[in-house]
Amino acid sequence: MPMFPRLALGLLACLGASAALGAAPGTAPGSPYVHITGADEIPLMETGEVTPLRLFIFLHDDVVNPPVSPADDPFMFHAALGDDGRPPDTLIKTIHDGYIGWWLDELQQMLPGQPIRVTYLTDMPGLTDIRHGHDETLADWSFALRRFAEVYGLPWMASYRNKFILLVPENVGFLSAGKAYGEGAEAVASLTGPWNIVAHEVGHLLGATHEDAETRATDWWWCQTTMTAIPVPFLNSCYAYSAANRRRIQDYYHLGPALPRAQGQVAGPVVD
Ligand SMILES: [Zn+2]
Repeated sequence: MPMFPRLALGLLACLGASAALGAAPGTAPGSPYVHITGADEIPLMETGEVTPLRLFIFLHDDVVNPPVSPADDPFMFHAALGDDGRPPDTLIKTIHDGYIGWWLDELQQMLPGQPIRVTYLTDMPGLTDIRHGHDETLADWSFALRRFAEVYGLPWMASYRNKFILLVPENVGFLSAGKAYGEGAEAVASLTGPWNIVAHEVGHLLGATHEDAETRATDWWWCQTTMTAIPVPFLNSCYAYSAANRRRIQDYYHLGPALPRAQGQVAGPVVD
């Protein structure tokens, strides 16, 4: 998704202050993985009877421990590491509340009764410390997964329903806040992007398209659905996919990828 100016990090900082009240649910003490799914949590390699839609959300080291201090950049939130070297639960909760929670509600509406798992992962050398901020960030992310997924026991390529998203603190290319392989497994999203940036990029992974996005009239203004290619700054986000993209995502979930398979590829083209 192309980027438009927004003070995401400033808002994150504000939210971070208010999010200090509650710990992220389902935190597993002593584990390098922080699971937000609580009681629904399942081991990484175990898929159960129904293969869930699994969202593995990796926080880049520069998100967990920004190299720029707040004094240097007033919009950069700073998360001090805990004694055990893991990020504070408030960082995960802030990101979850801003970028993920509302969107999970929509996914659950679209896929009623289907299991959806979200797992946050941090501090994984080789994966969460890759170079970022350049046009090939997505290709580098895909390559890193190819190299390290087995090392960490990640079910990469085990199911088309497994998605691997790297969150980074700055753009992933010129004026781009996110990139994904259409109907593929990997995406990168920047916290400089709008609140729906993860929903937009994972939408691409699930077969949604820019062409099926729409502008809707609401009671008092207009909003743009999640897959809008270039959001108009003075229009709201609907925080919802269009009906056509909902159908595409439902088809993808139940039937699997169509485009890459038809083209004899593992994943589709790179899209913003
Ligand atoms: Zn897009």
